Order: sequence, then C-alpha cells, then structure tokens
Amino acid sequence: MLLDLRRLTHALSDCTIGHTIDYHETVPSTMPIAHDLARQPGTRSGTVVVAEAQTAGRGRQSRRWEAPPAQALLVSVLLQPPIYVPVEQLPMAVGVAAAAAIESSLPGLTGHVGLKWPNDLLVGAGMADAAKVGGILMEARFDGGHLAHVVAGIGINVHQRLPDLPAPQPGAPPPASLHHFLEQQGHGNAPPLDRTALLIALCRSLALHLSPAINGNELLTRWRQRLWTLGEHVCLYERDNVVWAGRAADVNADGQLVVVNDAGEARRFLAGDVSVRSA
Ligand code: ATP
Repeated sequence: MLLDLRRLTHALSDCTIGHTIDYHETVPSTMPIAHDLARQPGTRSGTVVVAEAQTAGRGRQSRRWEAPPAQALLVSVLLQPPIYVPVEQLPMAVGVAAAAAIESSLPGLTGHVGLKWPNDLLVGAGMADAAKVGGILMEARFDGGHLAHVVAGIGINVHQRLPDLPAPQPGAPPPASLHHFLEQQGHGNAPPLDRTALLIALCRSLALHLSPAINGNELLTRWRQRLWTLGEHVCLYERDNVVWAGRAADVNADGQLVVVNDAGEARRFLAGDVSVRSA
C-alpha cells in the first residue's frame, strides 16, 4: 500500500516538521531533492521529501541504501536556520527522535529499540542480538562559514521480508524490518504495520526533539541510554583499515565516541571519520 498523502497532510499541517510534504513514487535519492529545495526561495524549514522507492539510495560514505518500493520509509528532512539544536548534536536529536517514534508507534517494541553509534537504528534486546532496521544520514551545507541548512536522511525498514533485505556485513548487525522483527517475537498475527502512521509519529517526534525547549544535556543523556554500542568491544575502521580497537567507553557532548584500548589509552572519534564494527 502506498503512503496516504491526504492523511499525512492533514495530520502534520500544524507540525514544524512535515507541514510540507514533497511526495514522489520513485527518485534516485531523496537527499539531493531536499538540498535543491533548500536553495529555492520560499521553501520552509521542516519540509519533508518522501519517496516510495529510490533507485540510488545513499548510506554513509557513499554506501548504498536499498529498499523495495513501498516497503520502507525513505525520507529526507530539511532543516534551515534557526536550528535550535547545535549542529554537532543534531545526529543525537534525530537518532533519539527516530527511535522514540518507532517505539511509540509499535508498543510491542517498547524497550527493544536502540542505536549503534552514531546512528543506525537497531531492534533487539541489546547489542548481542541486535538487527538493523534503519539508518540515518546527516548532511550539512555551509555558506561562508555559516550553517546554511541540514538534510537528515532517514530510512526505516517496515514491511520487508528476509529475502528483500540486503546481505549482512561481517561485524555489523544484520538487516531486519519492523515486520520481520515483530514476526520473530510472535506478533505475526498483528494488524499490518502502517507506514503513514509511522511517518506521522516520526515527524512529531522530530519536531519535539528539535524544538527550542530541548535541553542539550537531556539530549545527550537520552542518546547515551539508546546507544547499545557503549560497553561493547569494537574495532574502528577507516575505509577498510582497522585504526583502533577497544571498549566503547562513552560519548561526549560533541557526539564523539571514546574508545579505550587494552593499554588503557583513550581515543575519540568523529562519526564522519570512522565505522564501528564488533571486535
Ligand atoms: P556505519 O557503521 O559507518 O554507519 P554502515 O554499514 O551501517 O556503516 P550505513 O551508511 O549506515 O553504513 O548503511 C549502509 C549499509 O547498510 C550498506 O552498505 C548495507 O550494508 C546496509 N544496508 C543497505 N540498505 C539497508 C537496509 N535497507 N537495511 C539495513 N541495512 C542496509
């Protein structure tokens, strides 16, 4: 079933995120469309680009994001100044908001949604049995040293069955969809998941977590609580090379991951520079 645009428009007309929906059936990627909209006069911050399918969906560091048509949520959210959350905390706000939206839409998932640093959306009981149901891609554009706009790309697997999901990668949580996970949990006879309701919940949760009322310390605390990476033994990769290994000890207020090796030395990593894999 396709997304219900009338329902979306009606439910989100008063929301700071999703008041304007730019809907497409198939596009190469929603990300460049959102960047282009940002350059057009009259575009409002909080505009959401959504597609049923992408022919060239993007992950981090030029990786591919794959989803069959009408099975996932594929959205890019445009944020323009004033943006109330500092740019280094935006990945926290978006990650926490997306995890909270999934939990609030599907009560069967309460306590089962976490994050892999920096921003993979996981389901499971914890890192040991986690599966990846979504990914978040943050792209900021600057103009003369000032933040011009940010696009937050969010992909959430909703209906896919196992054969429709990409192959697992070594050291990374295997891909799953919300449907697949719930079926495994014994909720297979539940009513079909509603992507439109999930998108409404996502926009409302983003609006809440990006509002001027949000407190930076509170955001960091909520992100820490969701980050199943913390406490794990991990390898840090730059492209295909391991650059550091140790225990993921903490994250700091700038979103950097602190990893302590066996000799007790700590190093901090920026999300843009490295990928985390289980040791
Ligand atoms: P990192 O830890 O650096 O984020 P990553 O492998 O999770 O690494 P992402 O950019 O978050 O990278 O996601 C892209 C990768 O996720 C792809 O290389 C593929 O392995 C996997 N992938 C692609 N599409 C999906 C999907 N629909 N669901 C889950 N995983 C996917």
